[in-house]
Amino acid sequence: MENEILKIQDLTKIYTSGLIRTKETIAVKDASFNLYDGEIISLVGESGSGKTTVANLILRFIHPTEGEIFYDGREIHDIPMKDYYKNIQGIFQDPYSSFNYFYRIDHMLNQALKFSLKGIANKRKELESALSIVGLNTGDILGRFPHQISGGQLQRVLIARALLFKPKLIIADEPTSMIDSSSRADILNLFKELREGKKYSESMSIIFITHDIGQAQYVSDRVIVMKEGSIIEEGPTDEVFLNPCQPYTQNLLGCCPSIYRKWEFD
Ligand code: ADP
Ligand code: MG
Repeated sequence: MENEILKIQDLTKIYTSGLIRTKETIAVKDASFNLYDGEIISLVGESGSGKTTVANLILRFIHPTEGEIFYDGREIHDIPMKDYYKNIQGIFQDPYSSFNYFYRIDHMLNQALKFSLKGIANKRKELESALSIVGLNTGDILGRFPHQISGGQLQRVLIARALLFKPKLIIADEPTSMIDSSSRADILNLFKELREGKKYSESMSIIFITHDIGQAQYVSDRVIVMKEGSIIEEGPTDEVFLNPCQPYTQNLLGCCPSIYRKWEFD
């Protein structure tokens, strides 16, 4: 895990809202962290701490106010969009809002294939393999509309769509928060398997965003704790959760019925 795939340096995002009396919100402030090849990091923090803003900045949906993001040594804004999204894909909280209701699943996956794998001869095979990686059966799913499958299945279709690009990095923003708990475990396990390259030809890196410490603990190698836009604590998952330095992290842990309550009794 030596290769640094992503480097975030002094990232700040200030939103301005309102027309006459403008109001500034500092959503992310001087955030710096990095991500290595084949690593899963979790970005944790309570609602409003700036996690989604970090994801949106990395995914180039918004521009930073200050700071830089490097992917594979290049500032991301110097990389052509098409090349960028072949390497970096996002998975979001609400799978229903990520799909167009009027198109069937096969149409949407074929659209993704058009962009991702130009010239690949056997597109059907690529589709089948991406769907089987996420545990879905092609025959059951492809002919349906998004509202005809469950939230958990749709989230898996979304992951399959991301996999069609054969990305090196996946940014998953609260990917399990709108699905039932049994599918949740499957999706967390899938992320772990993808990272390890068990289900996929290459290993990939994942930024897993969650407000649920239990999920972060289960899935990640390293954890980054955000509070009010700033990174307040960072380190290997076990270290941070067994010996949290910050009262804020201790509070987050206090809300989670997990094995990481040891610090309370020491
Ligand atoms: P999280 O994902 O951790 O809940 P967000 O990144 O969504 O946090 O939000 C961080 C802060 O930025 C919050 O105070 C939120 O209200 C504010 N914010 C997010 N998006 C916008 C926006 N488009 N315009 C103004 N403020 C925003
Ligand atoms: Mg969010």
